[in-house]
Amino acid sequence: MSYDSNNIFARILRGEIPAYKVYEDERTLAFMDVMPQSDGHTLVVPKYSAANLFELPAAQLQSLIAITQKVAVAARQAFSADGITLMQFNGEAAGQTVFHIHFHVVPRYRGREMILHGRTMADAALLQANAQKLKAVLAGQ
Ligand code: 5GP
Repeated sequence: MSYDSNNIFARILRGEIPAYKVYEDERTLAFMDVMPQSDGHTLVVPKYSAANLFELPAAQLQSLIAITQKVAVAARQAFSADGITLMQFNGEAAGQTVFHIHFHVVPRYRGREMILHGRTMADAALLQANAQKLKAVLAGQ
């Protein structure tokens, strides 16, 4: 499968469409998922153009997973989560819907099931408030 440079995350990386950004460095961008599967669901995306794990050089994966850990640690604190689920899908058959590789950081709360994947758009005010909470913890790390 070839990389489509007009996928939604490539457009967010180029600044063509807005996102609730929480972290950025030279290789990585993290922002809130607009259809969160739980409160605080965040996406971690490399700036490198790769559709999936099969196309991502190992050195790029190393920085991506290191920042994913950083975001997970911060999300646990920011949202007082009881746990964190990481998810990463490769290919349509695996449930991938945006073909630019990313990790999902999904805060989990005791007694609360995850909402179904990519179904319900969250309230903008909630996304913004969650982004602010997470950004503040990340900035203080
Ligand atoms: P995938 O199915 O590819 O693993 O996950 C794609 C994720 O991107 C889904 O969880 C979906 O909610 C999220 N998503 C889709 N479109 C947008 C968008 O325009 N902005 C943001 N922030 N997230 C999006």
